[in-house]
Amino acid sequence: MNNRSFLIYGLALCFSGILIGQNDYVMQREQMVKTQLQARGIKDPLTLYSMTNVPRHEFVPKNLVEYAYRDGALPIGSDQTISQPYIVAFMTETLKLKSTDRVLEIGTGSGYQAAVLGKIVDSVYTIEIIKDLAMSAKSRLKNLGYHNVVVKWGDGYHGWPEKAPFDAIMVTAGAEAIPQPLLDQLKDGGHMVIPVGPSDNVTYLVSVLKKKDRIITKELFPVRFVPFTRNE
Ligand code: SAH
Repeated sequence: MNNRSFLIYGLALCFSGILIGQNDYVMQREQMVKTQLQARGIKDPLTLYSMTNVPRHEFVPKNLVEYAYRDGALPIGSDQTISQPYIVAFMTETLKLKSTDRVLEIGTGSGYQAAVLGKIVDSVYTIEIIKDLAMSAKSRLKNLGYHNVVVKWGDGYHGWPEKAPFDAIMVTAGAEAIPQPLLDQLKDGGHMVIPVGPSDNVTYLVSVLKKKDRIITKELFPVRFVPFTRNE
């Protein structure tokens, strides 16, 4: 083999390695959707489509990539976590999203949930209180091409009044009560999903529907989330 064909052979091997690697993630994602989501009753086609396509392994720390599609939460640094795929799917489905929606997320973390929302709706605004996480999620989402997801560093308690009202709001940190500014920034007919409970006791996932000026809340099931913190 001369030098040139050796180089071509090497490149071909390298390229097929990358393809096989990516293919493996596609298979792991399909498996995750089937066994963790559909098997537990997730039916919304938009949620299933999005989670089949968003590369979760790009949102976890490099040393945990092999666990990216496992049935659980994972640490993402700064003492925070990326939620279990089923919880991401359940919360997404609860919002009853349409492709034209504008959505607010509080608790960007890795940016994975924002990307899942971004594949479904027109625009996503997401706020993260920890600066390092906000900055790395911002560049990750940009590099992966999620141009309809806007990340802001700040305290999500106040929502994002300049971009309100929102068709749907998702909070991915456990709050002691539903922040009033978020209720104010939800459109009439809009849905919110938020984990709520006292910091020393059980947190429930709560769905909220705003109807005229009525707020209808429903406790769904107990969940464990990192706490909703405040910038004093
Ligand atoms: N949705 C994330 C996981 C969320 S973990 C993902 O897909 O990876 C919850 C996140 O909420 C943490 O990163 C935490 O720092 C953030 N958080 C807690 N309180 C907050 C607040 N008041 N405003 C904005 N973000 C907050």
